[in-house]
Parts: sequence; structure tokens; C-alpha cells
Amino acid sequence: MNRIYNFSAGPGILPVSVLEEASQAVLEFQGSGMSILELSHRGKWYDPVHAEAQELLLSTLGLSASEYTVALMGGGASTQFALLPMNFLGDGETADYVDAGEWGAKAIAEARRVGRVHIAGSSKATNYDRLPEIIPSGEASYLHLTTNNTIEGTQVFTLPETQGAPLFADASSDIFGVDRDYSQLDLIYAGAQKNAGPAGVTFVILRKSLLAVAQKNLPPMFSYQVQCDKQSLYNTPPVFPIYVLGLTLKWIAAEGGVKAVAARNQQKAALIYDALDAAPSVFTPCVAVKEHRSWMNLTFKLATPELEKAFLTEAQALGMDGLPGHRNVGGLRASIYNAFPVEGCQALAALIQDFAARKG
Ligand SMILES: *Cc1c(COP(=O)(O)O)cnc(C)c1O
Repeated sequence: MNRIYNFSAGPGILPVSVLEEASQAVLEFQGSGMSILELSHRGKWYDPVHAEAQELLLSTLGLSASEYTVALMGGGASTQFALLPMNFLGDGETADYVDAGEWGAKAIAEARRVGRVHIAGSSKATNYDRLPEIIPSGEASYLHLTTNNTIEGTQVFTLPETQGAPLFADASSDIFGVDRDYSQLDLIYAGAQKNAGPAGVTFVILRKSLLAVAQKNLPPMFSYQVQCDKQSLYNTPPVFPIYVLGLTLKWIAAEGGVKAVAARNQQKAALIYDALDAAPSVFTPCVAVKEHRSWMNLTFKLATPELEKAFLTEAQALGMDGLPGHRNVGGLRASIYNAFPVEGCQALAALIQDFAARKG
């Protein structure tokens, strides 16, 4: 197979070695005489897969299993927008939310159905072209932020002070892609399909101590307490996505862990940003503050819609796909998740240089 350079924002690219092993397991899982797709989720073949994915989630992030627990769920990160306030925003309480992009705004809308929301910082007035300053309310049950704004192309590299509130993060598009002190976060959730596996599993990593303050009497499928008490086996978990998530985490370990992968991501992003910055008459990065530029989703515009169209046509001819920006914001977006190869970033940077030399 001739692999193209897939710049898609999600589902994103996976390592070839993971795809090969997963393909084999679809035919037969480890001498079981069954496909991974046919295994009972309560049985000796699947049990270790499930437990290993949970262990690897914590160890990859450097979190201790005595302090943190993991729920493996369905429903995407979007379901978590609602479950977080249902579990942690009680009557009369306030939650702080950072409004730095479309995904965060969706999380805010869900929290408002449940309780009171304080906007602790917003960059909406400048079309989310930067990260906002964060001023916590000082009375919040938690502070929620999006670590990487997938659509707008900003990324949080320094986690904020919360004035005592537990810090909750939607890390859907940069989990395992940046080296940060994850123990500063009390709850981390992510849909796997951007940087960690296929669509279908969403993981929630939370401090065990939070379960004590979670709301009781929720429908069991919506309750972190139930999900954790039942080791994410209250109902049938998404077996195959969990298996591929585990393979992807083992691949990250083999690459040298989050530190090594993050260092490579920074270099990959620099190749493309440097090319953009060198051609300001044709290309303009969408993010106004350089320090806020994402390593995962690089957003930029060309001087005219005609130039954008011409650039995309040339990119397509060179085997680069998935570069149009999100339908709500336009422009272009290069998503270069962990498994995206350096060569693809070099190819895009070379096209940017060459295109600018001809059209600038
Ligand atoms: C893609 C994305 C989501 C939505 O994820 P689903 O799994 O499709 O619900 C939420 N937050 C961020 C930051 C994302 O990138």
C-alpha cells in the first residue's frame, strides 16, 4: 500500500505497526481461534487487554495507580461535556470554564444545562486566535479547559493556577503529544481518535479522591463512580478500540515515551511554522501569539481563496490529504499527530517554500 500524507484532524493517523498487528488480531487473536471482534468482554482472552490499556494510560502519563483511576467509555469526548457537570457540579455550585475554542464552547453549553458556569477567560472576541488570560472565580467545584484547540490551532503549554479548584482537561487532541506534568490535572479526558487510537473509546483519567464528591443517583452509565467500581465493565466496552489504544500506547513506549514523542512533535511543527513565517506575503498563521501555536493542529491562511484552492490542488497532487481547515473557520489546517511522519512535515514545508517562491 502506498500511504499518503494524511493531515486529517480526526480520526487521525495511526502507526503502521499498530495497523498491522490489529489487522492480524481481526483474523485471529493470539492463538485463541477467535477474532478480537468475537471475544467475550468477560473472559481470559480479553481481560489482560482491558487491564493493560488502563495501566498503560496511567504509566504513559507518569501517573500513579494509587492516586488515579481510569474509565474506558463510549460516546466520544462530546458525551463527557455533559457527564463532567452531571458528576461534579452540584446544586448551587459554580464551575469555572475557559472559553478558548469551539470544543470548549460546547463543553460550556453542556455545563450550563446542569448548573452555574463562570467564564474564567475567553478569547472569543478575537475569534479564538490566542489563549485567554485565566482568572479563576476562587469558588469553583472545578476549572475546565481544553489543552489543545483542535479547530483554531492553539495549545496550552503552561497549566493555569486554579485557586484550589480541581483542574479538568479535555485533552482529546494532544494527549501523549506533549510532555507536561499530568499530575497537575485532576481529571483528563480524551476521545482516542486524534492521537491515541481509533474512534469508539473515550478515556477518563481521574483522581480517586474525586469519586467521593461525585453526585450520587445518576444513571449508572453516566456515573464515574459506577464505571470505576465496575472497572469499565458495567456494560460491553468498545473492545476493539481499547485493544488498538493499548497497541498505540505500547508504540509510544517503544518510541521513547511521551518525552521523545513530544520532542519530535515540536520539531515537526517548527518545520512547517518556519516555512510559513518565511513567506508572509502568501501565508499567514491563524494564531496571533507565537507561544500559543499548537504542535498538533497548525492553522494558516493564504492571501486569497484562489491561492488556497491552488495550494490544496498542488498538495493533493503530491499525496497530501486532509489539509482544508474546519468547515466553521475555513483556511487550512495541518494536523500532525504523534504518528504523523517527519517526512510529511518536510514535504509540506517544501511545498510552502516552493509555492511562495512562485506566487509571492
Ligand atoms: C474532536 C474533539 C472533541 C470531540 O470528540 P468526539 O469524540 O467526536 O465527541 C472534543 N474535544 C476536542 C478538543 C476535540 O478535538
